[in-house]
Amino acid sequence: MVGLANPRWSARRFDADASVTEAELVVELREVVRGLSVSNSILKRWRYANATHVLAGGFLELAERCWVAGDGFGSVAGENNGVERAVRSALSVAAAIQVT
Ligand SMILES: Cc1cc2nc3c(=O)[nH]c(=O)nc-3n(C[C@H](O)[C@H](O)[C@H](O)COP(=O)(O)OP(=O)(O)OC[C@H]3O[C@@H](n4cnc5c(N)ncnc54)[C@H](O)[C@@H]3O)c2cc1C
Repeated sequence: MVGLANPRWSARRFDADASVTEAELVVELREVVRGLSVSNSILKRWRYANATHVLAGGFLELAERCWVAGDGFGSVAGENNGVERAVRSALSVAAAIQVT
């Protein structure tokens, strides 16, 4: 099982002791998955793995039939994770291609 924290949760704890943060994440996981038994866990932290500024909208069309998509589009305030923004952006390009 992989527990992903949202950017705000991670930012608040980035410089905290890793074992404390790991224990807090396990507590959060147990809130989400009732009855969960955790026998082992590993905490991973990547400070620069998330876009801090993103462009509004799903994508850019640079030229006719030339689109730019990725995790640089969407909403950080909405707390979507990077992969989620990238997938949503790609889907919006796919929808635009179908229309054109
Ligand atoms: C260590 C790490 C951990 C992460 N963990 C998480 C996580 O737990 N949850 C989460 O939601 N997100 C996580 N992310 C973020 C996630 O990986 C990105 O949000 C996602 O990969 C963005 O997808 P993308 O398609 O926008 O960009 P990318 O996946 O970066 O794809 C860009 C592609 O463009 C190619 N490229 C770049 N320049 C050129 C060029 N000039 N010409 C041709 N090709 C080019 C690159 O080679 C690459 O294949 C993590 C990122 C890192 C680095």
